[in-house]
Amino acid sequence: MAALAEHPTVDEELVARLRARGLRVTSQRVVIHRALRTHAQHLSAEQVFEHVAVSLPGTSLPTVYATLELLVELGLARRVSTGAGPTLFDSRLEPHAHAVCSECGALADIDEPLRAEAAVRRARAAGFRPDHAQLVIWGRCAKCAENQRS
Ligand SMILES: [Zn+2]
Ligand SMILES: [Zn+2]
Repeated sequence: MAALAEHPTVDEELVARLRARGLRVTSQRVVIHRALRTHAQHLSAEQVFEHVAVSLPGTSLPTVYATLELLVELGLARRVSTGAGPTLFDSRLEPHAHAVCSECGALADIDEPLRAEAAVRRARAAGFRPDHAQLVIWGRCAKCAENQRS
């Protein structure tokens, strides 16, 4: 696959994680992972599907969903639940917060490492097995706030 050379490190990461779990490296997994990693950071399964439909015409939406879930499981993507609209998948793995516009649904990264250790500890004390924590800030984006003023 000649196209593999375009994003060697992105692909290598996926291949290493799949092999570590004894999972097969399929072209669908490679292309879906690459679409998530190389396009705008927060993508819905439908958006990923649109990107991969061009390079892998036989791919179905359920396959895209299942593969995105697998990438989350492998630690290569995170699910961002905004409470509105479709679930978005984020390929940026370092801790950061999100701001969601309740008017237009715009989602932006907030470069603040989340300090949720206390909440995570409480969850663990309650018998919960914490995976990771997310901070979502709700409000209006700059554009929507500006429109409201005029
Ligand atoms: Zn907005
Ligand atoms: Zn993000």
